[in-house]
Amino acid sequence: IKNLIIFGTRPEAIKMAPLVKEFLKYPDDFDTKVCITAQHREMLDQVLDFFEISPDFDLDLMKPNQNLYSLTADIITNLKPVLEEFQPDYVYVHGDTTTTMAASLASFYAGAQVCHIEAGLRTFNMQSPFPEEMNRSVTGVISNIHFAPTTTSMDNLLRENKKKESIVITGNTVIDALLFSVNKVNSSEFSDAEVAQLISLLDNNKRLILVTGHRRENHGQGFINICEALKQIALEHPDTQIVYPVHLNPNVQKPVYELLADIPNISLIAPLSYPSFVWLMEKSYLIITDSGGVQEEAPSLGKPVLVMRDTTERPEAVDAGTVVLVGTNRTKIVAEASKLLNSTEAYEQMGKLHNPYGDGKACARIVNHIQEMNS
Ligand code: UDP
Repeated sequence: IKNLIIFGTRPEAIKMAPLVKEFLKYPDDFDTKVCITAQHREMLDQVLDFFEISPDFDLDLMKPNQNLYSLTADIITNLKPVLEEFQPDYVYVHGDTTTTMAASLASFYAGAQVCHIEAGLRTFNMQSPFPEEMNRSVTGVISNIHFAPTTTSMDNLLRENKKKESIVITGNTVIDALLFSVNKVNSSEFSDAEVAQLISLLDNNKRLILVTGHRRENHGQGFINICEALKQIALEHPDTQIVYPVHLNPNVQKPVYELLADIPNISLIAPLSYPSFVWLMEKSYLIITDSGGVQEEAPSLGKPVLVMRDTTERPEAVDAGTVVLVGTNRTKIVAEASKLLNSTEAYEQMGKLHNPYGDGKACARIVNHIQEMNS
């Protein structure tokens, strides 16, 4: 059976890496190759290094100021020779990026079976120009097999009349990646210059609040509110240290550095590689983020998460109580953070809740399903 696993951004690489590793355990059953579009470049390469994956095809498509029109066209055009050369039986795409959508369409043209990992997430908000909901919906229409992380995502697919037999609930592969990574960064052989820098930055007498934010929907007033809330938390809780790896997008950099650079217990640092980020998540007391992946990872480490978004395609975490949606409202962010900083009871209760996103065996379930279909 010929498998082609295609991805392009850092979050996709993190969530597809354990699947690549799982397929490679069965060389007698599968000829598995990896193709990266490199929609992100440096951040993607760091993840590949850490998971020791070397791609078989690298389309190297990242361009300065890339836009959705040319990126989509480039992905489809550049995948054609790869698909024609390798002729995969199955193509695996992940999530909701432009790579996901364009690669699934190209794979359909090539006659491959398209498998969507992390299928069925929906915000029900097709808001142009943000492409994610369109990307995941289009990919859902094209895909032959939907590997849904949860029952909620399966129900979304059933409501769209996808056949029940085409949906498999697996849990999210991000937990597989996280458990592998926690093990690796805590092993005695692991040494990393970035982690060494973090050790010297952290004040062990203070509780660590880890912050990340990058979403386009928060650019502008959203980030100004976020920064004001962080400033207030830092001033009202001098026993905390806020560590914020600041995304490179100028719409994020500008308000963050203007509003937060001079506060003694806020440390603004460069974006972290995935292993140091995992290391830092484990050391943190509380996480404040607008990231999707972090919401899924943190509960497995027992860390409460405040999510700076108004809508989410991940309602399971809100229902399970492992995350709280605070939007970009300053008062709400400060109030929820203060609650978790002031009440040990509220904190401990949130930290010990069950992670709705899985148990770290998602990839084994995916591989198993493909094996069974072909036995
Ligand atoms: N992450 C990282 N370094 C950082 C911030 C996040 O490696 O400085 C990781 C994080 O552990 C998660 C993924 O990147 O697995 C999330 O990516 P991002 O927030 O960019 O995208 P989203 O999940 O919102 O699609």
